[in-house]
Amino acid sequence: MALTGECFCGAVKYRIDGKLFGARSCHCSRCRKAFSAQASSYAQVEPGTLSWVEGEDLLTSLVGKSGAGKRFCSKCGSTLCGIVDGEVHGITLGCLNEDPGIDIEMHIFVGSKAPWEVIPQGVVTYDTVPPEWH
Ligand SMILES: [Zn+2]
Ligand SMILES: [Zn+2]
Repeated sequence: MALTGECFCGAVKYRIDGKLFGARSCHCSRCRKAFSAQASSYAQVEPGTLSWVEGEDLLTSLVGKSGAGKRFCSKCGSTLCGIVDGEVHGITLGCLNEDPGIDIEMHIFVGSKAPWEVIPQGVVTYDTVPPEWH
């Protein structure tokens, strides 16, 4: 069963024929601005499983020196996916239409969260990233 997602204005639509994994929320100051929110909510996709159904020509992207970046709708500004070296790496959970059947596994960069954000009790948090990512 495919998952579908779309941007805020609905001009860009995608489907994913595969599982999501590695769901996480990053609370760093960069993600707050990139996602216009208290944190990012992001999950990785298996390579090649995301296809653009509508509006791919409306996508624009912002890529950093590392080769990692994001693609967003040029009409409404919704961030739809993260890219690494030009390939879709993962998606923003907020643009999904269905329940992906996974939970956010961890909250990272909680040490630099916004002062106004209250982190819920009982979630897995890291000041920066998990030790195995270093
Ligand atoms: Zn849009
Ligand atoms: Zn971040």
